[in-house]
Amino acid sequence: MADLEIKGLSKAFGGVQALKGVDFQAAKGEVHALLGENGAGKSTLIKCLGACQSYDSGAIYLEKKKMTAVHPKQAIEAGIGIVFQELSLIPNLSVADNLFLGMNLGNKLSVTRRKTACSKARQIFKEFEVEGIEPETKVEALSLSEKQTLEIVKVLSRDTQVVVFDEATSALSSDRVEWLYHLVKRLQEKKKIIIFISHRMGEIRRFCNIVTVFRNGENVGTHRLDEVDNDRLVHMMLGRKMSGYYPE
Ligand code: ADP
Ligand code: MG
Ligand code: MG
Repeated sequence: MADLEIKGLSKAFGGVQALKGVDFQAAKGEVHALLGENGAGKSTLIKCLGACQSYDSGAIYLEKKKMTAVHPKQAIEAGIGIVFQELSLIPNLSVADNLFLGMNLGNKLSVTRRKTACSKARQIFKEFEVEGIEPETKVEALSLSEKQTLEIVKVLSRDTQVVVFDEATSALSSDRVEWLYHLVKRLQEKKKIIIFISHRMGEIRRFCNIVTVFRNGENVGTHRLDEVDNDRLVHMMLGRKMSGYYPE
């Protein structure tokens, strides 16, 4: 059994069958791309993995252990970290408060707690080489790229075995894309299981070593990126040939 093994996952939303018995496997130290047109089911698969979404049938195993999480917090505890496409930050709270949301650092109103949170936030920013974001700043004052950066750091600070980036680069400035590239390399060295969702073929080729293509709620194939060309990937994505076309 693979380090992360998803078996026969199905999920319908009313009449829409978002996942049709999806099998998926990923290994430690792998940066695994998910590719597919909008609506192919990538995010739904990831939400099921993170227990943000229930599923109708199928099972998920992490390191041979069946996942039983029914709440996102339990999924994090079981080792699943997800940077979501939709940011989950609270605008009128500070950067530090957002980093430690849901963690018990003492009385929310106390000055000691605020200081503890800020100094912990600084440590985390140092560890993940984040510059230019102050722990005391309210999230609503951050740029979109900074918000996305914070969301990424929030997930990484939980040190989970699996780390998923669901279109996490779309809001990042180009220097922060480079920053993320180096973080992903670090995660790979630490033998994490990394899943990277993106529409950008160039980025997928740079960040990832293996790709699984989704079409209409189905896994239509997995390839090593050095063994498959863009035309083939587009053919898999669309179900028809379309030479020379691919989203950059
Ligand atoms: P992708 O991430 O590949 O773009 P999604 O997983 O977001 O695709 O969506 C797969 C399908 O499921 C789409 O048809 C989408 O409209 C539908 N879908 C996703 N989430 C919901 C939801 N919460 N309610 C209803 N339909 C949904
Ligand atoms: Mg989408
Ligand atoms: Mg999506």
